[in-house]
Order: sequence, then C-alpha cells, then structure tokens
Amino acid sequence: MVSTSPNDAFVAFEHVQKSYDGVSLVVKDLNLSIGKGEFLTMLGPSGSGKTTCLMMLAGFETATHGRIMLDGTNINEVPPHKRGIGMVFQNYALFPHMTVGENLSFPLEVRGIGKSEREAKVKRALDMVQMYSFINRRPAQLSGGQQQRIALARALVFDPSLVLMDEPLGALDKQLREHMQFEIKHLHESLGITVVYVTHDQGEALTMSDRVAVFNDGRIQQLASPSDLYERPDNSFVAQFIGENNKLPGVIESIGDGKCTVRLTTGEVIDATPVNVSEKGAKTLVSIRPERVEYKPEMMPAGAHTIDAEVMEFIYMGDLFRTRLRVAGSDEFVIKSRNTLGQRMLSPGEKIKIGWAPQDARALDPM
Ligand code: ADP
Repeated sequence: MVSTSPNDAFVAFEHVQKSYDGVSLVVKDLNLSIGKGEFLTMLGPSGSGKTTCLMMLAGFETATHGRIMLDGTNINEVPPHKRGIGMVFQNYALFPHMTVGENLSFPLEVRGIGKSEREAKVKRALDMVQMYSFINRRPAQLSGGQQQRIALARALVFDPSLVLMDEPLGALDKQLREHMQFEIKHLHESLGITVVYVTHDQGEALTMSDRVAVFNDGRIQQLASPSDLYERPDNSFVAQFIGENNKLPGVIESIGDGKCTVRLTTGEVIDATPVNVSEKGAKTLVSIRPERVEYKPEMMPAGAHTIDAEVMEFIYMGDLFRTRLRVAGSDEFVIKSRNTLGQRMLSPGEKIKIGWAPQDARALDPM
C-alpha cells in the first residue's frame, strides 16, 4: 500500500510557488505528497506548470517560495547531482560520442564508483531493458525506441530511489509508446522505485499511474487514482480533460439526499448527482460519460427522467456503436453502446429517448 500522508511522504511540495519573471506565478501554492514506491503522474495541458514542478524537484529550477522535501530533508539548496535522482527527459539526450556502455558508466564514474562495480551495474541496467547486446553501439546506431530504453537504463543505473520522467515517450510512434508504457510500469513495480512522470497524454497517465495530479494554470485541479478521475471528476475542467464527456448546462431545480434535478437551458428536466453545487437555483454543467447513457427502454433505470434525442450520426465500430445525438439544442451529445447480440442499430433522423442512473450524471459548478 502506498503511503500518502504528508508526515511520511517520500517527496513533498509544501506551499511551492514559482515565478520566472517575478510577476506572474506559473506554479501557485502547490502542496503535493508522494509516497515511497508510488507512480505519480502530473497530467495537464501544455503550459500548466508540470515541467516547472519536475525541474524544481530535479534541482534545475529554484522555487520562488515554499519547500521541497525528499525523504524528510529540505532539498531547496541541494544541487541536482547531489539529490540522487534518476531522470529521463525527452530532450535529455544520450552523449552521441560515447557508446551505450560509456553513456551508462558515466553517471557511475561521476559518483566515484570503481571499474568492476561499474561494469556489473551497467550490465544489470542494460539487462533490465533487454539491451545488453547493444553495449558497444553508439546512439546514432540505435532506433528511437532503443535510445529511449538506454536513457531509461542510464536513469536507473545508479539505483536511485526516485526517478523523474518528462514526456519520455513523446517522440515515439503510438505502438512503441504503448509498449514502453508497459515496460516502464513493469520496471517500476519490480524495482519498487518512486516515479514522478509528466505527460499531457491522458491515456498514458491513466494506464501507468497509481495517482494522477491534474494540472491547470499552475494548480492541481484534482489528485486521485485513474478510476476516480474518470468516474468521479471534482470539477468541469477534469471532467472535460479526462476521457470523453457530454456536458449539459442548466440550473438546479431540486436538491437533497445526494440527488438533484436540473432544468436544462432548453427546459427539459434531468436527474443528476450534485458534486460541487449545493443550492437550488445554482447554475451547473452536468457531466455524463458516453457509455453511461441508455436508450433501450427496457434497460432504463427505474424512475429515471428521460429526455428526447434525435440521432444525427450512427457509427458502427465493431465492438461499439458510437451515436451522435441532438440533445437539448446541441448536436454534440455522444453515446457509446456495446455491440451486444441483437442490438438494434439506429438511423439518422430517428427520435429516441435517453436516460441514465442519477449517479452517472454529475452536476458540477461551471466555474
Ligand atoms: P508544462 O510542462 O505544463 O507544459 P511548463 O512548466 O513548461 O508547463 O510552463 C509553465 C509556464 O511557465 C508556461 O507559461 C511557460 O511558458 C513558462 N516557462 C516555462 N519555463 C520557462 C522559463 N525557463 N522561463 C520563462 N518562462 C518559462
């Protein structure tokens, strides 16, 4: 079990702020505790402050305010090479004039480790990524995926307990990226290291992480497990950023007992679960995942409100049907249905009724 209490955190950001120009803050009062052995991903759109956080943890940038703790010690003043942190960055290239073996041996030499121990550690690290037979090659003689494996081995070669990765797979094609995601996850599990990973790719974050910190505009919007982020987004930014999402604007009409009804701007009433809205009359944006919407009458949850929809487009995708609907005046409502035996296909122009269980529609503050 991964520890998450701030008292026994392995890495902690405490009230950390960062400004590059002395005026605007790109990281705003960041508080984040990462447990030993945890795989934590910082996920967010470009410019949201993820890399800045990672650079402060690595020691290449200084915090304007606040403390960064590693294993109980304040490391604000500790230079990068004394932090004992392994790093894999997309642009943190291998040395082109050195062989694979020399690239891996280098961080060990810097740490004053003797020749025979160096050789043993280099072999072990290359074995971990199944690249020992490439020890005498130069980086230019390797494919992109192989180079990234070597960069990973180089980050692991001195047995760091913490490894930072910033978009390490960004330059690889989709298939290789997915393969490497599993390889990194497997190494994380087998070595028991703590990983802090930065990506803007939500699929990557959901696949690999124990917890994900969703960043926007220098702040963490939500810190949660992948399933909680997807199933229980705290606000409309997270609902929109993670996975596919339908949103319906309206006003809370009745609320109580963990349920509410929402009158949409076009007049229909729907069922939802209030998340960060508490008052009758409050504006809300209701968020519903495409796979949680039902249109077959016999499958509709008992007592659910249903609303009218018109089929705009029906796409057969093999295992799934993806249907785009006009709902409450918008043409962008998407539902996904499993292709089960006897499932009826819908046709454009067809009028249907849709509904859902109230717990699957989250009434969020539109912000
Ligand atoms: P992300 O990793 O989420 O894309 P960054 O941490 O790279 O975000 O950037 C956050 C903000 O800080 C952006 O507005 C970016 O332009 C700015 N920024 C990043 N690095 C520097 C720098 N070295 N000097 C000035 N501004 C920077």
